[in-house]
Amino acid sequence: MDNGLREKAKEASTKAYSPYSKAKVGSAVETSDGKIFLGCNVENASYGGTVCAERVAIWKAVSEGHKKIKKVYVYTHDGWPPCGMCLQVMAEFADDVLEVTFGDHTGKETTKKLKELLTHAFTPEHME
Ligand code: ZN
Repeated sequence: MDNGLREKAKEASTKAYSPYSKAKVGSAVETSDGKIFLGCNVENASYGGTVCAERVAIWKAVSEGHKKIKKVYVYTHDGWPPCGMCLQVMAEFADDVLEVTFGDHTGKETTKKLKELLTHAFTPEHME
């Protein structure tokens, strides 16, 4: 049961702006209060300005007032996992059981808890 996150993430990947890498990444983020936000990767000629699909979706959620996320789905042709920077951003806004799924074009999926992917996250608690 992924509440259609896979299909939503796949659809979001078609919106990717990736003239440099040609990679099309889509993400669907479900917040703890049940809202779903979508993102695609957005590249920039100044490469440092590039943002991954997961962070686009998370920032859309946060900017709309939804600061806890419970599921993240990442869709790529080859089933790429999230990068380290995206995992760190997920840790900032994760609820206790955040699950991350990455899926490929064949339907193969891998689901992990964020804590498995980022075992010793630096979190807001460290800043208290
Ligand atoms: Zn990333």
